[in-house]
Amino acid sequence: MAKVTFIGLGNMGGPMASNLLKAGHEVTVFDLSKPAVEALVAEGASTADSAKAATQGAECVITMLPAGKHVEAVYLGEDGLLAALPAGTLVIDSSTIAPETSRAVAEAAAAKDLAFIDAPVSGGVGGAKAGTLTFICGGEVATYNKARPVLEAMGKNIFHAGPHGAGQVAKICNNMMLAILMAGTSEALALGVKNGLDPAVLSEIMKQSSGGNWALNVYNPWPGVMEGVPASRDYQGGFLVNLMTKDLGLAFDNAVANQASIPMGSLARNLFQLHAGQGNGELDFSSILRLYKPD
Ligand code: NAD
Repeated sequence: MAKVTFIGLGNMGGPMASNLLKAGHEVTVFDLSKPAVEALVAEGASTADSAKAATQGAECVITMLPAGKHVEAVYLGEDGLLAALPAGTLVIDSSTIAPETSRAVAEAAAAKDLAFIDAPVSGGVGGAKAGTLTFICGGEVATYNKARPVLEAMGKNIFHAGPHGAGQVAKICNNMMLAILMAGTSEALALGVKNGLDPAVLSEIMKQSSGGNWALNVYNPWPGVMEGVPASRDYQGGFLVNLMTKDLGLAFDNAVANQASIPMGSLARNLFQLHAGQGNGELDFSSILRLYKPD
């Protein structure tokens, strides 16, 4: 079992840290939110006054932060963690951020002889709670192999996508597809309901037909159709519209940089941006349904 420091205890990081504790790891946590820290301390984690203090004696540091600017602030610069960690420490960033940002952190880590991988996740809050996340790793194979036993406490499928930044590229592609599927699923359900169909019956039909997909099968956006998903609790918790908009922005920037064409991804980005602009940024991303069903 390892001494692990976990930084960023939000919708995803909280349950991930909890699963590390359940697996018997010695976990120290830090977050800017006191209640988030207290919840993990109640489960047996230690804490400290700052991110740097929390990493004292850590064999492995994991971050699960909202966006690239938070990852840069935590790791880089004179006050960043990379400057303070002893050589050989395993450093895993599971936030979804731009591949270039991951590569910049990897380069700074290598200069300090730290073993860094990007390891963004898929599977949502449900997967984080159940310990069934998919980890999509980028970095050296030796570092990936070193990280696997720790990641196995939080996930079921652990992939090596390629060199530094490759985990982020794969994750960005996945989330662009997810946004398209969630918007498309909402559109199809809204059309059926306009025709007088029961959304639950239509969902069941499409699940068993060629329209079946993850958004429909396990994260139905129509309120009341599926238990335990954000749509059935007023779109609270889950994966925020603001975070999906961030990921679609990453896909868009990446497409521009690589001269790739993403017409569906661009449309999805505009739909989610419009929805965020209407005051829905803090709701789960399945609330995109409200664009089609405003009442
Ligand atoms: P969140 O906003 O719920 O949590 C982020 C946490 O980071 C917050 O508790 C915040 O206080 C903390 N934080 C911010 N800056 C900090 C700092 N400098 N030091 C310490 N703590 C700091 O976000 P989330 O939903 O947990 O997502 C985290 C990352 O995972 C994002 O990059 C997101 O895109 C990705 N992701 C989320 C989901 C999901 O379903 N929510 C799924 C896959 C990937």
